[in-house]
Amino acid sequence: TKFSDLNLDPKVLQAIEEAGYETPTPIQAGAIPHALAGKDVLGIAQTGTGKTASFVLPMITLLAKGRARARMPRSLVLCPTRELAAQVAENFDTYTKHLKLTKALLIGGVSFKEQEQLIDRGVDVLICTPGRLLDHFERGKLLLTGVQIMVVDEADRMLDMGFIPDIERIFSLTPFTRQTLFFSATMAPEIERITNTFLSNPERVEV
Ligand code: AMP
Repeated sequence: TKFSDLNLDPKVLQAIEEAGYETPTPIQAGAIPHALAGKDVLGIAQTGTGKTASFVLPMITLLAKGRARARMPRSLVLCPTRELAAQVAENFDTYTKHLKLTKALLIGGVSFKEQEQLIDRGVDVLICTPGRLLDHFERGKLLLTGVQIMVVDEADRMLDMGFIPDIERIFSLTPFTRQTLFFSATMAPEIERITNTFLSNPERVEV
């Protein structure tokens, strides 16, 4: 498979080329076509396999058309740690450099005010840790009813850190019709239960 066979937005392809990537990794080749077809994806992959691009590239291709609305993010990426969220945000910037998509990074240790201003203006992608996202929600600063795509990254680490109740709450605040891209390095019983509950007919891609 080549990147040019994957039906990604031409401006995304250009950014990939400029990043120096030549061929999709197995998780990318496996997950991207399903994600672009609008399907839920259950990706079983470790860090280092290229899994970040396997959800960011289709997500930004799907969001490229359409516009952000104030306080209603169009997509969410949930990460277990601030560091991982910051890495995803960096990847997002690299791949969207020729698109006009906006993001906000919602992580702890940063003032609420700056994050709220971004949300108020409208963002296409919210990249967050679950606790900080729910803090903003409780303050009445955003609505999750406009979420079209939700990504859960490193679900097994979310489980280790006790975030599963937060994840379930966030799932239940987003529309039933959203598309879900869910990644975990392993499939513990609790992870299996969550995916059975919140994913609909997912395509399982294991690398
Ligand atoms: P990840 O597993 O998402 O943490 O990605 C691991 C590293 O691989 C990151 O530094 C990416 O920039 C890089 N990467 C992702 N996809 C590709 C690709 N198709 N070709 C070359 N490098 C890649």
